[in-house]
Amino acid sequence: MKNISLFLFILSANLILAQSDPNTLLLKDFRPESIYKTPVNIVEKAKFSAIDMHSHPYPKTAAELDAWVKVMDKAGIEKSIILTYVYSDKFDSLVQVYSRYKNRFELWCGFDYSTYKDKDFPKKAVKELERCYKSGARGVGELGDKGKGLFYSKPSAFGMHPDDDRMVALFAKCAELKMPVNIHVADPKWMYEKMDATNDGLMNAFTWRLDNQEGIVDHSGMMDILDNTVKKNPNTTFVACHLANCSYNLNIIGGLLDKHSNLFIDISARYGELAPIPRFAKAFFEKYQDRIVYGTDMGTNSSMYQVTFQILETADEHFYNREHFSYHWPLNGFNLPDEVLKKVYHDNAIKILTK
Ligand SMILES: [Zn+2]
Repeated sequence: MKNISLFLFILSANLILAQSDPNTLLLKDFRPESIYKTPVNIVEKAKFSAIDMHSHPYPKTAAELDAWVKVMDKAGIEKSIILTYVYSDKFDSLVQVYSRYKNRFELWCGFDYSTYKDKDFPKKAVKELERCYKSGARGVGELGDKGKGLFYSKPSAFGMHPDDDRMVALFAKCAELKMPVNIHVADPKWMYEKMDATNDGLMNAFTWRLDNQEGIVDHSGMMDILDNTVKKNPNTTFVACHLANCSYNLNIIGGLLDKHSNLFIDISARYGELAPIPRFAKAFFEKYQDRIVYGTDMGTNSSMYQVTFQILETADEHFYNREHFSYHWPLNGFNLPDEVLKKVYHDNAIKILTK
């Protein structure tokens, strides 16, 4: 026992030494602190009342839910859309928990893929969707496909992509019930690139790597699948979350928004990927100001909301936030104009939720 603690002590001492020696410091341990004396604005409350279009059922108890509502009040979040992924009694029990704050949350359900290999899958899944709607679901999501098929709802439906014929009846029912669909396609481009010294986002990319997954549909293939899905189901409203993972080339998702009036995007969990290109990002927000909605997808604490506001609202430059982002690059604010902020925080969400 004594030997083990001595061994662990030597090990951690060596690690600290390695992290402070530039010759042995690893990229994953790089923790730069900005040296610039430039403005730093802490934004505690969104400039306009905001609807968070991408959150999840993080609180597990009534007390945690109460605490979250207090944080939302302080941050100026009037409503959070809870993407539950679930259906059946699991969905119903979440309705029970969240119904205490009827106006502050809206719950979206998942699809039931359990019979997706059977002939009567569409009929069965539509029936469960209708049941969830009656139970309180007002949208569907988050659907997910990173290249192997649909998988966020359990059990997953690997091999079936959202543009599959089997999904048409489900999306048609969503249109009929006026349930928008939140859909996650692909992942950021760095995850598909070579994991070597040339990978611009290596620190994060290595954790979420997809380059080593055999038979996976690549990023551009997934964009074709998104394009087909939205085209094939023209009466259904789709919200492609995380800007359809196109932060590296906003022209791709811009092109899809130009083509399809039933497509919107949420910006959740891609602040870190957009903040290195603040001028290009701002121009994109201005051009597509009617199609972009605010979202977080990063938990429930106030510092999380604050950093999203700082990036959207301020002109702050070269700042780091290790608590919420794991890339090694600094962040920059977009300094969005008020009319754009108001639409992104609020008005576009209302359009989707009341369509
Ligand atoms: Zn999410």
